[in-house]
Amino acid sequence: MVEKGLLIVLSGPSGVGKGTVRKQIFSQPETAFEYSISMTTRKPREGEVDGVDYFFKSREEFETLIEQGKLLEYAEFVGNYYGTPVDYVRETLDAGKDVFLEIEVQGASQVREKFPEGLFIFLAPPSLSELKNRIVTRGTESEDLIGRRMQAAKDEIELMDLYDYVVENDQVDSACRRINAIIVAEHCRRERV
Ligand code: 5GP
Repeated sequence: MVEKGLLIVLSGPSGVGKGTVRKQIFSQPETAFEYSISMTTRKPREGEVDGVDYFFKSREEFETLIEQGKLLEYAEFVGNYYGTPVDYVRETLDAGKDVFLEIEVQGASQVREKFPEGLFIFLAPPSLSELKNRIVTRGTESEDLIGRRMQAAKDEIELMDLYDYVVENDQVDSACRRINAIIVAEHCRRERV
């Protein structure tokens, strides 16, 4: 029987740099786990490609996926739905491969209930003011959206204690190194038992 893969969940407040960290991890040739591409009703940002960054869906399509039980988790975040396709995750884990999710904290809590044995990593900003800086300099959000994202971030940071590990994103390279080290260490720990 094939040993099941490890479900790795990277979460943390929006703007903390989860996307950047995830892209850097997946740009390394030695990365041996699979990225689960999320579904969203958010409009593509410039340069984003359907089926690469996200599967972009209408609200109607997304709600049908919810009704059909096709999502492992989903959340409404700043006015849009985001969700993880359940079949992809289960099939990939069953094939013995690790799956990496990069999702916000409400969704991560839902995954924790369904996969308590998953590996949950919280990416934390060095400080809230640094987080606001990052969202503002990204320049993709309006004033109102920045305010809503900051409020969401404050609520999200309170959930940090529910995670197996907290990694501070002071520098992307060093955060990626620590995340990779955690994954290697967790494999050694789990394979021992
Ligand atoms: P953005 O609009 O900046 O791409 O993403 C907004 C937030 O949604 C980020 O915190 C991102 O990690 C999160 N997100 C992306 N995909 C998913 C998903 O499948 N499920 C959940 N719950 N959150 C997601």
